[in-house]
Amino acid sequence: MSVKETFGSLVFNAKTMSKYLSSKTYQSLLATMQSGSPLDASIADEVAEGMKNWAIENGATHFTHWFQPLTGVTAEKHDAFYNPDFEGGVVVSFSGKELLQAEPDASSFPSGGLRATFEARGYTAWDPTSPAFIKQTEGGISVLCIPTVFCGYNGQALDKKTPLLRSQTAIVKQLYRVAELFDLPTDKRPYATLGPEQEYFLVDAADFNRRPDLIQTGRTLFGARPARHQQLDDHYFGQIKPRILKFMADVDQELWKLGIPSKTRHNEVAPAQFELAPVFEEQNLAVDHNMLTMDVLQSVASRHGLACLLHEKPFAGVNGSGKHNNWSVTGPDGKNWLSPGKNPQENTKFLFLLTAIIKAIDENARLVRAAVATPGNDHRLGANEAPPAIISIYLGDQLTDVVNQLKFGVAKTSKSESKMGVGVDSLPQIARDATDRNRTSPFAFTGNKFELRAVGSTAGCATANTVLNLIVAAALDDMLTAIDEAVKNGEKKEDAIQKLITKVINEHDRILFDGNGYSEEWVKEAERRGLPNLKNTPEALEAYKDPQFIALFEKYKVLTAEELKSRYEISIENYKTVIQLEAECCVNMAKTMIAPVVIQYAADLVDSADAIQSKAVDRLSKKTNDLVDALLVAIEKLDKAIDSDDSAKKIACMLEVRKNADELERIVPEEQWPLPGYGQMFKM
Ligand code: ADP
Ligand code: MG
Repeated sequence: MSVKETFGSLVFNAKTMSKYLSSKTYQSLLATMQSGSPLDASIADEVAEGMKNWAIENGATHFTHWFQPLTGVTAEKHDAFYNPDFEGGVVVSFSGKELLQAEPDASSFPSGGLRATFEARGYTAWDPTSPAFIKQTEGGISVLCIPTVFCGYNGQALDKKTPLLRSQTAIVKQLYRVAELFDLPTDKRPYATLGPEQEYFLVDAADFNRRPDLIQTGRTLFGARPARHQQLDDHYFGQIKPRILKFMADVDQELWKLGIPSKTRHNEVAPAQFELAPVFEEQNLAVDHNMLTMDVLQSVASRHGLACLLHEKPFAGVNGSGKHNNWSVTGPDGKNWLSPGKNPQENTKFLFLLTAIIKAIDENARLVRAAVATPGNDHRLGANEAPPAIISIYLGDQLTDVVNQLKFGVAKTSKSESKMGVGVDSLPQIARDATDRNRTSPFAFTGNKFELRAVGSTAGCATANTVLNLIVAAALDDMLTAIDEAVKNGEKKEDAIQKLITKVINEHDRILFDGNGYSEEWVKEAERRGLPNLKNTPEALEAYKDPQFIALFEKYKVLTAEELKSRYEISIENYKTVIQLEAECCVNMAKTMIAPVVIQYAADLVDSADAIQSKAVDRLSKKTNDLVDALLVAIEKLDKAIDSDDSAKKIACMLEVRKNADELERIVPEEQWPLPGYGQMFKM
């Protein structure tokens, strides 16, 4: 079958619905999906019936409400469509009630204290803005998945999708106001868009299975970097190897069946590292699709005898993986509002929005940092690789030039690729694609969207986008309200807008930085500017406890103080758990796999030193001895740290164990080393 036929074949999309539902029900459901309004309960039974028939025809035996609990992975509990009848057979049933709502045992998911343990119930409710789909697993097992939100009985959000949807409501409201301000049509519902570029590593499954650290923690806790790693850029520009291409082709086929518009595939900078980028979509759908993409990458990898590593830093010493979260908004006029316009009015609206984003990021940099904080991401942010932990905005030459002029009032000219556009009606025309690329910026304008590059590769995109929507909504609200006031006080609207843009840019331009985000000078300069530099997850998560941010979440009804607190608790608990797990895995591997080998090798060297009269052998024997000694001492220290509650100490002790082990890996003959080395794994 051609891709045209298979694309979306596992999705209960509009095309499929029209075949399985009466035209009245179909229209009603379509309206719900497009407007985000609640589903008309009277059509639920018919929708369920149609969905079930379609699912069964496609081999499904079970259905599940599919949701994103606060653990970070998607959760499913399968129920069969079949119930016994009175004659010893079965009836097939799936009611509207089952479609709309289910009751998973909420006690098995973390709630951060939101739900008392005696009140174990929670419910999932269908979110029709993301269509149902069939998940096919190896062996021909097919399950109907119904994307849902997950709440406690008093309506508290126990998942990541609920606040995302709420933040969309907040930004949509402000986008309508912007449309009104600029006299634009308001007939369509505006929405945020997302295109998440996904980075990942692939290693041979045989190597993966010999590495307890990869299996248990997702990253290597040991491993000396080989001489040849990523200095030559030959992997990035090289052709994709046949084995990898076969994998990628298979991934694309699976994604297309699920209606996921996978578009771009290529090698990434580090050896064995790759990237997949889809075409952007409405944000909620894109978030779900990214969760599914991570699933598909891993399951297809295992079919190909590979392991797909989604961890932010599977290998020390080479680039880690992230997610480039491309964010924009489509206005009620149906246009991308971060696309610089073709006329003065559109440009003013664009600059208004841009200014609001600058204000939003500057006022809430710590919140953005918190939204991407995970133990895995700590190995990227603030650890000398892209992007730095200091949140700043990159605008590129042309926009920077415009913004600099706006600081002094009205911008007259625009530096564009080809022509120097002279300002029409006081604001300049801005050409698309005038941006050059700055790979070190955490938040970059890339022509017609902003790219948040600080999201971790394992993380879903829900939380980061919840925060982006929320803070931009709040900044727009402030600015729109200020203009309303000014106009009420008799000022001309156009003047009020221009004055406000100038004022806000002057207040927040410290967040703009186009230089090298890796440099030591930037760290100093950022400190001088008063920009936060939060190096690790515990520091970053403090933002969730800040009254300023709690008030922000509450004001826009994205999370209550209680719900936000629960997220803090869960994230910090998760951080501690991950570090503890890594520490235990590290100490076990060091004791049971590495120590026996290096002790034996050190002993063999002593024998050799006796047998051979060589100063060099003596020196090697001594060096090995010292390293083994240092390793064993470090193991003892780590063992002690594991019993403490001090995550920072555990991290420091793990590094000490690793340093000595990696040094020894460079001495011990390769065939004696108990783990597949980096060189071996990088052969992909
Ligand atoms: P790159 O940044 O790698 O040069 P692209 O311009 O192709 O690449 O965009 C990267 C990602 O940004 C893609 O997933 C693309 O669909 C997405 N993107 C493009 N336009 C938008 C938009 N308006 N909103 C959100 N994402 C977008
Ligand atoms: Mg990009």
